[in-house]
Amino acid sequence: MDQQTRRFGRYEVSILHDGFYEAPIDVLTHAAGPAARDGAIAAWGRPTLRIVVNCFVLRGPGGVTLVDAGTGTSWGDAYGHARSALVALGLTRDSVDRVLITHLHGDHALGLFDGEAPYFPNARILVPATELHFFTDADKRLSTPENRRGGFAIAETLQRLYPERVDAITGSDDILPGVTLIPLPGHTYGQSGYLIENGGRDLLLWGDAVHLETLQATDPEVGLVFDLDGAGAVATRRDILGQASDQGWIVSGGHVEGFKTVRRVGNAFELVPAA
Ligand SMILES: [Zn+2]
Repeated sequence: MDQQTRRFGRYEVSILHDGFYEAPIDVLTHAAGPAARDGAIAAWGRPTLRIVVNCFVLRGPGGVTLVDAGTGTSWGDAYGHARSALVALGLTRDSVDRVLITHLHGDHALGLFDGEAPYFPNARILVPATELHFFTDADKRLSTPENRRGGFAIAETLQRLYPERVDAITGSDDILPGVTLIPLPGHTYGQSGYLIENGGRDLLLWGDAVHLETLQATDPEVGLVFDLDGAGAVATRRDILGQASDQGWIVSGGHVEGFKTVRRVGNAFELVPAA
């Protein structure tokens, strides 16, 4: 088993590396205002953000389950490598039984599509109910800034290409044995993570609760312009970092390198490679 594959309880969990996301540094925000934002940019120390993009595959009860689906071919050659990573594990897209979606942003959900066809011919797509309802609500669409409406187009395509195969799920649903949905609102209103039971060293796949693991653990008030509810994202980040630290969870996510644990450092946190 390589470093990217570990057993957690009933599941063998592999990280599928999709690519690297790059953006100008001005996508950075800070809840405390411009001076704090300048400080965060100085702490980052580079003119652009470059962060890993991941999704995950779980093998165990229920067969083959993805957590998110990467970008597919939609964002060009720098992305979409999760597909070949899946094949490298000896799996095919036909073998995927379900995809658990953390939130409906392109780097997590566009990989569900193969042009105008579903990329996973046999999979059910499980989407947090709050997320699906938000991104299929015409009024919410109108009240969302135009350049933040990607999730609405994705939700529309998802329902069109996977008719009768999209399930809205909540934290009280039996998703899979030992897997629980954890709401993580803020980055999007319905973003959710998935907690995989592992006898006290549970694994939380937290979507985009954290984009910049060093900067946002040190200062959870740092955000990105892509957060639909910036204040909510900060509160969720602080809360989930605290919980992960208190519970001794292992964490990973769409933009975390490898498997980590969370340590409290004063009033903030640090992500440490999981032993
Ligand atoms: Zn993301």
